[in-house]
Formats: sequence, structure tokens, C-alpha cells
Amino acid sequence: MRAIDTHVHPGTREDVIDTGGKYIEHAASYFGLKMEILSEEALADRYRKLDLMGVLLAWDAETNTGLPRLSNEYVARLAAKYPDTFIGFGSVDPWKGQIAVKEAEHAVRDLGLRGIKFQQASQAFFPDDRRFYPLWETIAGLGVPVLFHTGTTGYGAGVPGGDGIRLKYTRPIPHLDDLAADMPGLTIICAHPSWPWQDEMLAVAMHKANVYIDLSGWSPKYFPPLLVQYANSFLQDKCLFGSDHPYIKPDRWLSDFDKLPLKPEVKEKILLGNAKRLLKI
Ligand SMILES: [Zn+2]
Repeated sequence: MRAIDTHVHPGTREDVIDTGGKYIEHAASYFGLKMEILSEEALADRYRKLDLMGVLLAWDAETNTGLPRLSNEYVARLAAKYPDTFIGFGSVDPWKGQIAVKEAEHAVRDLGLRGIKFQQASQAFFPDDRRFYPLWETIAGLGVPVLFHTGTTGYGAGVPGGDGIRLKYTRPIPHLDDLAADMPGLTIICAHPSWPWQDEMLAVAMHKANVYIDLSGWSPKYFPPLLVQYANSFLQDKCLFGSDHPYIKPDRWLSDFDKLPLKPEVKEKILLGNAKRLLKI
């Protein structure tokens, strides 16, 4: 295995069409991409050919969007079908309260999922909202990480009113910094270069030992210089390769990453070592 892609949306019919398609269309046009629909076999092939392992992500924003979820069962089924190629992160909708707590337990204990992903922009919640602390305590107790979206999003991008999506939910300080402070036992991965709050994200990851950054959703060619500098030094044990497939393809991310002026041992950590340690692979 050459690397672990920690941020993979399947891009299959279940992901692209059955979830209502709306946000995926926004995101595809934001990324300047014509959305294709992959068969499960084509998805697995894409990762196998590159000698990568991928972390598939579920999505549940039913309360805020009224759209069907990409279920934990589906992601678990794909991971079980291609055990050498994929593992999965579940998703729960925090507004479902006790049901979300039970679903997180079910996802990890029964389905074997290895983390829980949140997309606060579409789920419309602040991670430091006290009402959700029982959920974070449960996930910390399950011993798996949480993955939060940070910074702007393709969902609602370019649509009048951003289709009701509010970026405030995705800001690192105070929301993720407060959560990390209140829950030192919870491992928090923050996705994407957190534009327009990149510096805040670097500060939180430097300050809180339980906070990590996944570098998905941007081609490394466009990483801000400060992110590259920190990834190469202070944060070399805390940055993870993620593509945000299918919006950024892993082969493109990897070839652009290869051109960054990073130390070879740092590249190895970001591509493989850090994720192995964090995900216990
Ligand atoms: Zn994503």
C-alpha cells in the first residue's frame, strides 16, 4: 500500500443520485467537473490501480436538508466487499439526538466503521453546541476519530443564497477549538485547507494534540504557502492525505503533492504513516 486517502466520497449511484443529487451538482460545478457515476467495481479499481487504500464516507443531513442519507450500511457493505481497498467512516445527524447516539454505536460496533464524519454546512450545527456533547462523549468512548468539514463548501456554491447553506458552522475558532478543549479524549480530524480560516486551523492543530488536518478538497498546487510550511515542520505528524474523491481525483492530488517542496520523510508521513497510526491500520 502506497498511501491512504482519508477522504473519499464513493461517487456511485447511491452517493450521486440517491441522496437527491442537489449538493453534488453544486459541488461538481464548483470543482468544474462533469459528474460521472461510478460502478462499485470501477471505484474499487480506481483505488487498486493506484495501490491506495481509501476511507469511504457516509452522509446524513436528513433533518436540515430533507434529503435521503448515504447510509452507514452502504459504506460498510462497500468496505466489506473490498476489504483490502476500503475502510469506512459512518455519518450521523446530530439533530436526531438519542437516535444519533445509538446510530454512532451501531456504526462502529456492529458495522465495523472506523470513524464518524460530519458535514456541518449541510447538517447546520456548531460542533461546540453543548446539546451535542453526549454524542461526542459516545464517539470518544468508542475509540474512533471524528472528521469535521472546515472552511467553504461546494454545497450551495454559486447558487442564490448559497441554497441556504451557512459557512459559519465550518469555522475552526471557536467551534472546533472549543470542542477539542472540552474533549481531550476525542480525536478530531479537520478536513480541507480551511479557507478562509487557514491560519485559525493551523493554530488549533498546533495547539491541541487531539486535532489533525486532512488536506483534501484542494489540489496541493493551490495550498497556501503557510500550510505547506507548517506541514513540512510543526504539523508533519498531524497532516493526512485526502483527495475528496470524486471532486479531486487521487491520482491528480498525488502528482501535484509530489511537486511540493516537502522533505521526503514528511511526504511519507502525510501519505501513509500518520493515517496508519491514527486509524490503527
Ligand atoms: Zn468531502
